[in-house]
Amino acid sequence: MVDMNQLQALFGGTFDPVHYGHLKPVEALANQIGLSRVIIMPNNVPPHRPQPEATSEQRKAMVELAINDKPLFTLDERELRRESPSYTAQTLQAWREEQGPTRSLAFIIGQDSLLTFPTWHHYETILNNSHLIVCRRPGYPLAMENEADQQWLEDHLTHNADDLHTLPAGKIYLAETPWFNISATLIRERLEKGENCDDLLPASVLNYINQHGLYR
Ligand code: ATP
Repeated sequence: MVDMNQLQALFGGTFDPVHYGHLKPVEALANQIGLSRVIIMPNNVPPHRPQPEATSEQRKAMVELAINDKPLFTLDERELRRESPSYTAQTLQAWREEQGPTRSLAFIIGQDSLLTFPTWHHYETILNNSHLIVCRRPGYPLAMENEADQQWLEDHLTHNADDLHTLPAGKIYLAETPWFNISATLIRERLEKGENCDDLLPASVLNYINQHGLYR
């Protein structure tokens, strides 16, 4: 019998700021497939992206406020504490070594990140150490940009969530999570213009942003 309570997942990103487009799909996912724990891991210097507007401390504080009343989530500071760029492959290798070779581990990404995934540093190492669970995100195509990447996706794809629990790593699962048309970019733009963001992120995070005068 499949033990539905052992699968842990890491969820990395900039979280500048954390919002409902991060939290709600993942909560739905946890109910659908059974996740014992989701570890939110804000990154430090994302190699392929402009620097975040909020500091590492502020992004961490906002995640802490967002997950305060949600026992599914924990926060991992290892990438925030690192001075060098955060490479997911390196982080997942370290996590695998900590957890041992047989435990099922997963890395959660949104549909936009799946499309660029084959360009990530040592992306094959990521799949050697964990499964990839993809949440739906509006505005991004469901197929990969070129044939080689589409073939790579199909080679790893599973439609059976039990595989995520019975195998330690290596599968890609496209989860049927609800769509949220929210991005941190949209929130930063709306805050800059003084527009309402009440439906886009938790009130505790919005209060923190206002108290600290972020994204103005
Ligand atoms: P930005 O707008 O600053 O680029 P973002 O909103 O895309 O930020 P990130 O912190 O970069 O947020 O995202 C972390 C992870 O969450 C990524 O894997 C991304 O695909 C996923 N994600 C972010 N927003 C959504 C959303 N609305 N639906 C599904 N996945 C999302």
